[in-house]
Amino acid sequence: MKILIVEDEVALADALSEILKRNKYAVDAVYDGEDGLDYALTGIYDCILLDIMLPKRSGLDVLREIRKQHISTPVLLLTARSDTEDKITGLDSGADDYLTKPFVSGELLARVRSLTRRRGEVVTDAFTFGDVALNKSTFSLSREENCVKLSLKEYQIMEMLIANPRQLIPKERFLEKIWGYDSDAEYNNVEVYISFLRKKLTALGSSVTIRTARGIGYFLESGKS
Ligand code: CA
Repeated sequence: MKILIVEDEVALADALSEILKRNKYAVDAVYDGEDGLDYALTGIYDCILLDIMLPKRSGLDVLREIRKQHISTPVLLLTARSDTEDKITGLDSGADDYLTKPFVSGELLARVRSLTRRRGEVVTDAFTFGDVALNKSTFSLSREENCVKLSLKEYQIMEMLIANPRQLIPKERFLEKIWGYDSDAEYNNVEVYISFLRKKLTALGSSVTIRTARGIGYFLESGKS
């Protein structure tokens, strides 16, 4: 899951980013409406946290523009207590929900979970494919009684593979979603984590394999399917 934060109060943006990362989300943060719009238009995010009062372009302006361009990413507006009118305008302009500042992290996480669930994805604690289950709360991959712990990157890669079973996912898609546009990570980083995951699948005795489409990317296959 990848979240975009558009918030000009840098301290707040950092705090939000910290909370989300601790809860296994991949996060990009930008600090004005123009960057917010550019990033949002990529369509790669599962949820956008959007402040209303922003430099360069207001949050409401960004929201209208992304909806106009048919980006359906769920948007959670971050509003000040006094912005009642903006909240209504925001919801009318295509926001999915709003959160009034200041808020506690539990509330933020609950809203984000609810918005990402509304997209029609099945959100449970365990994702399964073939004979393996990926568990979000324990951050592990298991087969029957065998279980291995995953690192953050391994988990995020496996989550993308299982969410799109048998579909070819290009290496650059992993880089965009997991490392982010600004990162210096290269294809080689993806390859390294894929090889770690393959070792773990083998250690579990799983019939699930990560297949390589040479030069392009990876897809998940189950020997029994
Ligand atoms: Ca602001």
